[in-house]
Amino acid sequence: MKTKVSIVGCVDYDIGRVKEAVRKAVSLIGGWEGVVDRGNRVLVKPNMLSARPPEDGVTTHPAVVRAVVELVQEAGAEVLIGDSPGGTDRDLIHCWEACGYSEVSKVTGAPLISLDREILEVEVPRGVIYKTLHLSRTVLEVDSLITVPKLKTHNLTLLTGAVKNLLGLIPGGGKIEFHRRCPRPDDLGEAIVDILSVARPKLALMDAVVGMEGDGPVSDQLRDIGVILASRDSVALDTVAQAMIGLKPFDVPTTRAAAERKLGTADLREMELVGRSLGEAEIKDFILPSNAMVRRIPRPILALIARRIMVRPRARADKCTNCSLCMSNCPVDAIYTKEKSVRVDYKKCILCLCCYELCPEKAMDLRKSLLTRFWR
Ligand code: SF4
Ligand code: SF4
Repeated sequence: MKTKVSIVGCVDYDIGRVKEAVRKAVSLIGGWEGVVDRGNRVLVKPNMLSARPPEDGVTTHPAVVRAVVELVQEAGAEVLIGDSPGGTDRDLIHCWEACGYSEVSKVTGAPLISLDREILEVEVPRGVIYKTLHLSRTVLEVDSLITVPKLKTHNLTLLTGAVKNLLGLIPGGGKIEFHRRCPRPDDLGEAIVDILSVARPKLALMDAVVGMEGDGPVSDQLRDIGVILASRDSVALDTVAQAMIGLKPFDVPTTRAAAERKLGTADLREMELVGRSLGEAEIKDFILPSNAMVRRIPRPILALIARRIMVRPRARADKCTNCSLCMSNCPVDAIYTKEKSVRVDYKKCILCLCCYELCPEKAMDLRKSLLTRFWR
């Protein structure tokens, strides 16, 4: 039987329209049966990268989270909303409030759960990078996990979708350790798929009403896409989202690693698209991250021009407040201050983009060489 992926139109974040779109998207893939049973405890995991307001487009929109929560409650389950944001800024209450999830919790009664608490060690039987992982008891004990990502580009992994959203299941600074241990995107993809192998969502529901293009995951380039996607297979959902924006299945390391380990399908021929067709949902002029183009250069040519191609972080003196958040989150201690300004040691930098993701002032820019800009 083919894996169903639904694409349903949704023009804005009006809660009534979002709820109808989510209801239809789930119904088209077979409904809640097998995802949520009456009396279950269900963890809804949005992408709460950091304390950003919904209009920044960095985090899953609260209207989508609320719609999922309310529909799961209507199906008779108890819902928890849980996440662990990136970085060492552990003011979780501030994150919940800024992202609009405190309000969702107030309206729906679903509690907000920190995934940084009650940590247990779990074996990863076929782990490629990790043989054991530390995860919150909540993640391991709920009956059902629902990943609710936002469609966004990511300069390192090219897409941050349903599977990459699972990195937020890793408590606190453990996420920085992932980057330290896996500086190459392919290894990071394998490490995130290690999480998928022990915490497999029963449903993936993507907020692609407004997506992010360009150099995500904190780009200013937001794009009206106008759809909600759903699938019981997180890998299939990411594959369809990729196809919509012009990425091939194996361009994205998490999708490739997960498909190779048979934790989902990345083959469009094995999928049944319901709702809108791929042709209708495709965005022909979607702006991919700079590194997407770099990855497509044949290796021998890349070796010749590598020095002239670069995309790297640089702190903007006019915006930087010297808060030091980037320094405390850099996995390889590549950030330092000199004459009161924040600098990056490019000999150490592994281009994980944690500093770019987490800077609250958007002061960390991505500097591109002339050739990279020309290519684009
Ligand atoms: S670049 Fe951003 S995170 Fe780093 S010190 Fe400046 S304001 Fe803080
Ligand atoms: S400087 Fe930024 S991009 Fe480079 S390793 Fe540190 S956090 Fe990652």
